[in-house]
Amino acid sequence: MHATTRSVRPLAASEVDEFTHETDVLVIGFGCAGAAAALEADTAGARTILLERQSGGGGSAALSGGEIYLGGGTGIQQACGFTDTPAEMEKFLLAALGPDADADKVRHYCHGSVEHYEWLVAQGVPFTPSLWDSPTWVPPTDDGLMWMGENAYPFCDLATPAPRGHRVTSDGFGGKVLMAVLSDAIAASGVAVHTDTAVQRLMVEGDRVVGVSARHFGETVTYRARRGVVITTGGFADNTAMLAQHAPQLVSLGVNSDGGDDGRGIRMAQAAGAAIRHMSAGQVGISLIPGMMVRGMIVNELGQRFINEDVYPGLVGQAALFKHGLRVWVILDEKGYEEVPENERWGVVPHFVAESVSELEREVGMPDGALQNTVAEYNRYAGEGIDPYFHKSARWLRPLQAPFAAIDVRKGIAPPEYGAAGGGGAEVFTLGGLCTTVDGAVLDLDGEAIPGLFAAGRATSGLHSWGYISGTSLGDGTFFGRRAGAAAS
Ligand SMILES: Cc1cc2nc3c(=O)[nH]c(=O)nc-3n(C[C@H](O)[C@H](O)[C@H](O)COP(=O)(O)OP(=O)(O)OC[C@H]3O[C@@H](n4cnc5c(N)ncnc54)[C@H](O)[C@@H]3O)c2cc1C
Repeated sequence: MHATTRSVRPLAASEVDEFTHETDVLVIGFGCAGAAAALEADTAGARTILLERQSGGGGSAALSGGEIYLGGGTGIQQACGFTDTPAEMEKFLLAALGPDADADKVRHYCHGSVEHYEWLVAQGVPFTPSLWDSPTWVPPTDDGLMWMGENAYPFCDLATPAPRGHRVTSDGFGGKVLMAVLSDAIAASGVAVHTDTAVQRLMVEGDRVVGVSARHFGETVTYRARRGVVITTGGFADNTAMLAQHAPQLVSLGVNSDGGDDGRGIRMAQAAGAAIRHMSAGQVGISLIPGMMVRGMIVNELGQRFINEDVYPGLVGQAALFKHGLRVWVILDEKGYEEVPENERWGVVPHFVAESVSELEREVGMPDGALQNTVAEYNRYAGEGIDPYFHKSARWLRPLQAPFAAIDVRKGIAPPEYGAAGGGGAEVFTLGGLCTTVDGAVLDLDGEAIPGLFAAGRATSGLHSWGYISGTSLGDGTFFGRRAGAAAS
């Protein structure tokens, strides 16, 4: 049989004399979406095999912050005293993930969110019922609920705000806890896990996907799936050629992944006729400390603000990268810097300090007067608690006073979880992928479901089109993973 191959063209099942393994449902990739798909397929009574290229499950999900976007009145929202409804959650997500977020998926996701929260809790995923109440990437505490910019303009005017960032209980990044719990659930289920098994190509019979061919320790192994194949192989941020083809603005940046987002699952499905969607979209984890940015401002190389600083920082990152080439600086004063507790600074110290804005502007290399105008305008209104330009919350408004500081975002930051690694102006992952229905069926170029083929997670275009809110990846991966697993079985 075929050795390791770069080709992703599907193989005809008729070429295989005898399949190495047979099952009902085959799930490719043991990250959060694959675990959820396999668990639901198993619950539905399907014999299920979960294939994983690495020696164990986890994927990028195990490295993640463990923030899961949930709402509509979950147990910990209620325990923290917040009222929420699926309709308000839906309004927020349509605005924040758009333009052209997948309205069908967003509706199902919001209306199924309380049930999904309860499913996660039933698997053993821990959430602590307390609120972390200020802007950050990942809180240094184990608080289970956080704002994701729902209370920031313009979103607070579009939907009744409620905090919906649900954090898996952990000091720091909670993805490892999430995946440990889901791995335990898989181990306790009837799902068979085949690790060290890298899927290379789909197998087809006519227009139906009936299995895969994979490599396992130098050998080719074949799998027949009687009911369905579910692709949950993650995104394509580690595949430079694919980035260059679809999302050139993401090339040469740091990548937020386990290093295995090579897009092969997407390409295997494309080769079987699958359509793709929103391939240019990306999450941009901009290298700044949100607590510093909200206490000051973010400006471009002309010294101009360009966004409300208290929206979800990923939206700031997208604006900074796509509109300003990451040539952006956080400007704040000493008081603002000192107000950010040390354990939230992630080691970030100002790159420029000056006694006056004109001096700071010169040091950074901005045009004469540019930053001075911006700070003067900001200060003119900040004393009254208003921001007529970008409507930052009054909570963060105060006239900036000498001494001043500037942080060059392109110098990067290193989250404590990374140790000495990290850096660069931003770390990105892709949001586009296979075009799927709310039940995970992969659609072809005519918009018809490809028989036997399903997908979920970052291998698909999920809730998002252009925008991103933290928690929607683990969220849509597990939510639509479950639906794909159930549908496949
Ligand atoms: C540092 C960091 C922080 C993050 N924080 C958050 C957060 O707080 N909230 C959030 O929602 N998102 C977060 N994300 C993003 C999130 O982790 C990913 O988007 C999410 O894990 C995608 O889930 P997935 O199941 O689609 O893919 P993954 O979790 O990456 O799993 C894919 C699996 O498929 C396997 N695989 C790939 N190709 C093959 C193949 N050919 N054959 C067999 N197996 C294969 C991979 O080895 C991997 O195990 C973060 C990411 C990182 C890196």
